[in-house]
Amino acid sequence: MSWPLVGREELRLRLAMATRPHHAQLLTGPSGVGKRRLARWLARGTLCSAAWEPGGCGECGACRRVEAGTHADLLLVGVAPGKTKVSVDDVRRAIGELELRPLEGRGRVAVFEEADRMSAEAQNSLLKTLEEPHPDSWIVLTAARAEALLDTVRSRAERVAVPPASPALLAAELVAGHGATPELAARAAALAGGSFGTALVLLEMGLEEAELLCRPLLDGESTEPATWARAALSGVDAEEGSLRAAKVQRARQLLDLTLALLRERGGQWLAMEETLTAREDLEVGLGPELVLLGLYGKRCVANGG
Ligand SMILES: [Zn+2]
Repeated sequence: MSWPLVGREELRLRLAMATRPHHAQLLTGPSGVGKRRLARWLARGTLCSAAWEPGGCGECGACRRVEAGTHADLLLVGVAPGKTKVSVDDVRRAIGELELRPLEGRGRVAVFEEADRMSAEAQNSLLKTLEEPHPDSWIVLTAARAEALLDTVRSRAERVAVPPASPALLAAELVAGHGATPELAARAAALAGGSFGTALVLLEMGLEEAELLCRPLLDGESTEPATWARAALSGVDAEEGSLRAAKVQRARQLLDLTLALLRERGGQWLAMEETLTAREDLEVGLGPELVLLGLYGKRCVANGG
């Protein structure tokens, strides 16, 4: 998949005008706006075997392996499945490997995804490399919450803000690239808050069905809460990784959609705050069913149920 998808021409131009990429770049922006894709696009520019240009050629074997995450000189570090933090050992291993001679490309690229989920210890282990980079190494960090990074890390990387796409551009992409009807695309784009990832999830889940599942989290109305919570988390695809991880992911999506629906209604500050808290509870490892039922309970109280 090429990057940028939609509405990123200006950013792409700005990055392309840099004659040589900064040795460390920090991509910030809300989740689902395309930070991961942009990081791969930047890595392709360094590792492409056909063209030395921003984003590479996008077609050669090296570019394809970067996209697939299998290029020998691309070091990918992120939150492991079932974990909530980036492992400090993974960070140290990547830093060590970054100094080795490249296996097939011009240099080595380390991409640290969700760097805002690194402990202070893990972030500190990056400092020396950020200060004195190996000449043929590049680092790309992505973070939804830049404020969770240490000042020392933030100040040593070039910050690139990845803006959310406008609803109109998002909707156009959903129609052109994913076969959505214009009505459905417009609604999904409006709810997604500029996040392409969220918009896609909404289409995949079925917009009406997803909204219906969120209703109890908005109004505290459900005849049989336990059945509702089970239904909300059922039907997840658990082929990859554990069933639990899939349920956590589904709960995350429902909470994000709930937030979007609350934003649309406007003025529901308490409900938004409680939904955000539920989102955090999920990230620190509370069971997804428990989190959904807990939030449902709060909505019942707020609505006098
Ligand atoms: Zn290429």
